[in-house]
Parts: sequence; structure tokens; C-alpha cells
Amino acid sequence: MDLKNLYRQVIMDHYKNPKYRGLVKNDQYLIVHLNNPTCGDEMVVQLYIEDGMIKDVRHEGVGCSICCSSASVASITLVGKTIEEGLEAIHQFYELIKGEPYDDKKLVMDAKAYETVHDFPARVKCATLAWKAYEQGLLEKKKEITHG
Ligand code: ZN
Repeated sequence: MDLKNLYRQVIMDHYKNPKYRGLVKNDQYLIVHLNNPTCGDEMVVQLYIEDGMIKDVRHEGVGCSICCSSASVASITLVGKTIEEGLEAIHQFYELIKGEPYDDKKLVMDAKAYETVHDFPARVKCATLAWKAYEQGLLEKKKEITHG
């Protein structure tokens, strides 16, 4: 199997069996809703943060395979990290998408599958939608902590 096929397989696996999918009814979770008009993707994410740690995340989206699978990969990347580590990991994923050098130790292995996305500029927004939503939630929480 060549690398592109392997990557496609990773993306399809996350699309078919997404991790942390499904929202919870719990107002302790921060909620962020973003959409990507160019592709029609819609993404809702939830974050449960306690003592500066990302304890749980959830996502529910309607969209293409790149967008929905990427939400699953973002979720496994973020759970267990601090807010700062989470923001750093998201930043590394943006570098990866742009085709720039990035620190792969800050991301899960499956994130590598999206390296090919920068050959398809129209797909960049799909791949980063869930990451942007999680980023927005983390930044809100960070602000809330800093300003009490
Ligand atoms: Zn899309």
C-alpha cells in the first residue's frame, strides 16, 4: 500500500468510526458552532475543561469525510492536554496543513494523513474546521481563567 492509500485509509477509518462523536447534555461543557460555507460542512464541538486540563471533548458534524474525520483526529489529539498544550497542538496541525515544518510529537500519528490536504486548497477549510472550533473554545476558556 502506498502512502497516499494509507492516508486515505486512516481518513476513512475516522470517518466511519469517529472517536468522541456525539454531543452531551451537560452545561459544564463549552460549546462552539462553526460552519464552512464553501463545502456545506457544519461542526459543533464541546469541551469539558477542569483545572486547566481538557478532560473530555465531543463533536457532532454534518460534512464531508475530510471534515468529519478530522474532528475525530482533533479529539484524540486534545483529550488529556492542558489548554496551552492543546492550543500548541492545534497550531502544529495548521503548520502541517500548510505544508510547513511542524513538531509531530505534539500531534497524534493519524494527523499525518492530512499532510496531503495542502495539495487541495479547497479542502483546507474542511480539514481545519473542527480544529478551529476547538481552538475557539480553548481561547474562550483561557480568557475566562485569565480574567477570572
Ligand atoms: Zn468539507
